[in-house]
Order: sequence, then C-alpha cells, then structure tokens
Amino acid sequence: MVRILLTNDDGIYSEGLRILREALEAVGEVYVIAPEGERSAISHAISLKRPVRCWQISERVWASDGTPVDCIHLALHFLETPPDLVISGPNNGPNMGEEVFYSGTVAAALEAGILGMQAMAISVVARRNHLYDTAAYVALRIAERMMRDPLPPRTVLNVNVPNLPKEFLKGFKVTRLGRRIFNNSIVEQMDPRGARYYWVGGGEPRFLEREGTDVYAVSRGLVSITPLRADLTAYEELEKMIGWEVL
Ligand code: MN
Repeated sequence: MVRILLTNDDGIYSEGLRILREALEAVGEVYVIAPEGERSAISHAISLKRPVRCWQISERVWASDGTPVDCIHLALHFLETPPDLVISGPNNGPNMGEEVFYSGTVAAALEAGILGMQAMAISVVARRNHLYDTAAYVALRIAERMMRDPLPPRTVLNVNVPNLPKEFLKGFKVTRLGRRIFNNSIVEQMDPRGARYYWVGGGEPRFLEREGTDVYAVSRGLVSITPLRADLTAYEELEKMIGWEVL
C-alpha cells in the first residue's frame, strides 16, 4: 500500500487538509504532520534556534509548533521509513510565479525533494470559497501518475488548481513559473495612535500574461503543473562567466 505524507502551511485544522486526507485514505496509508496553526508565507524557514514541540492527535496524525519544513524533518523522525509520496497543501490561495519563494506550501515540497522523496505542492487559486474537492481529485490523479513514473531526484511538482467544480476543468498544462509585477507592494496607513505603519505585499498580486506560464494556464481553466528544483544556479550564466577575470 502506498504511504503518503501530508503537510501544509495553513495548519492542521484547515478544511483543505481534511478533505485531501479523506480522499487519499481510499488509496493509501496517510500520515499527517502539519503546523498547529497558520504558517503561510513562512517560506523555507527551519527552527534552528528554538525547540520544536510535536504531539500526536490521532493515529498517524501529528501537530507541531514548527514550520512546514520542520514538519518534513519531523516526519522522517516519526515514520520508520520515508513515505512514497509527500503532498503539501492544498493551500488556500495560489502559489504561482515568484510566489513560490514566499510559500510555506511549496517550501515543504521542495524540502521533501531535497531529502530524496517524491513530492508535490498543490494550491487552490482563490482567496475564498475554495473548492477543495477539486484539488483533492487533481492531487489523486497526479499522485497515481507519479507513483507509476517517479520524477528524477530533487525534482518536485508545483500544482495550481483553478477554483472550479472538477467537471468544469479544461484539462491540465505543464508550465513554467510566471512573472509577478511588483508595484505598490507597500500600503502605508496610520494606526489609531497616529503612527505610520506599512503593510508589505498588500493588494492582489498581478502577473504578466505570458503563454506557457502557470498564471496563463490557470486563467484559462487549466490545472497548472510546474516541475521545480531547489537548485537556483543560472546555468547559462555560469557558462558565460567562466572567462571572467575578476581577481
Ligand atoms: Mn497557506
């Protein structure tokens, strides 16, 4: 039986995690290790300088006061052998383009990849009224595909699902990351005592509408699947820079 580890950055009591877990229990043995509460936009943080607590909630389910990346490490500690597949999400919002750098959901999947596991991050592209049944259905289908034909080492999938009933999905597209437009990312306000404060990353993100990207696919009702790697090396530049004479 396939062994699946679930985590997220929306917290162990999130509706999406419950729905995905129920769907996966029909096909495998499901383990959950997730943060006790919301850790969205915590990115790849790991708790190096404080103790992390972890407590069992029910059979195969643990909550932790750590980050999503901590949860991946804790999973390897609690499980006798690594899971066959790690799924992070479904997140209660998109993780497209440069958003993957802020996302705790994507970070957990990347960490699982770095540690040698098959992994996907899955996110629902909506701010409210998320249709998690659709995301669970998509996760299951992609999981089946990954189990038949595993990804190369250290490669993980970043899946973004349009917030549609599953019969309205137009299909899927394998995509590259889109590009976010950053303007007016700071919202300046006055607090009740007359001091200024700043809301970073305020407002709805905007993206360039480029064909072949995650954003483009999702806006056309397609599930976007982007293969990701933690290796950020710019290989073309590396080639060109070999001739540099700096020192
Ligand atoms: Mn989140």
